[in-house]
Order: sequence, then C-alpha cells, then structure tokens
Amino acid sequence: MSKLACTCGHIIRDQADSLPHKASLIKDQQEEDFIQNLAQEINSLLTAAEAGNLEAILDERYGKIPRQPKAAEACYNIIGSALLSNSISAYECQSCGKLWIQKEVNSFKPFNSESRVYEAVLSIAPST
Ligand SMILES: [Zn+2]
Repeated sequence: MSKLACTCGHIIRDQADSLPHKASLIKDQQEEDFIQNLAQEINSLLTAAEAGNLEAILDERYGKIPRQPKAAEACYNIIGSALLSNSISAYECQSCGKLWIQKEVNSFKPFNSESRVYEAVLSIAPST
C-alpha cells in the first residue's frame, strides 16, 4: 500500500521506511509458523556452516553476489521474508487516530479510537 484514504479525508501515506504511524502485526495464530520458519532457516545455515558449505548454500540461494557480509545479508533477507509472509500491516491515521488493520492484500478495516485524535500508538516515540 502506498496511500490509504481515511474516512476523515486524510491520506495515509506509506512511501518510506520507519513510519511512526505504521506497524507490522503477527497474528497469534501465525506466530508459531513465523518462529518455526525462522528456526528452520537459521538451522539450515548453521548446519551448512558446520559442514563448511555455507558459502555454497548462500551462492545457491542468493546467487553469487559480491556484497559482504553475505551471511548477514542472508539473515536479513530470511527474517524480512518471514516477517512479510507472516504479518499484516496496520496504520494509524495521523489526523483522526483511526486504526486501519489489513484484512487482505490492499484491503483494510477501520477501527475508531475513543479519543478521535492521533496518539502515535504505533510509534516508538511517546506521544506528547
Ligand atoms: Zn482519519
């Protein structure tokens, strides 16, 4: 999603990283799959490293990329991919505070906040 029109008229934009009004949610029913998928991927890399095959496995999965450190990049990709496939997005309208929770791809359901104002509930910085 790059833009979402809130019912209050505000346009919620998602065109950068580290947005204070966006979060990724892992449903409790997906949490175990998320952890299991990560554990399997990490275990396969550790097993390959113990056997001295890590470089070959990384080349096989990600191609012979010249960037280093390749293992760190592989871990970033594994965790990012697992998060994307096991999470949904949520946005807080910066005008009215309404929460928009992803139901399907490009489909969001609104939830009104009692205060009806932006409270930065998805931000790591405390609201003022
Ligand atoms: Zn709004």
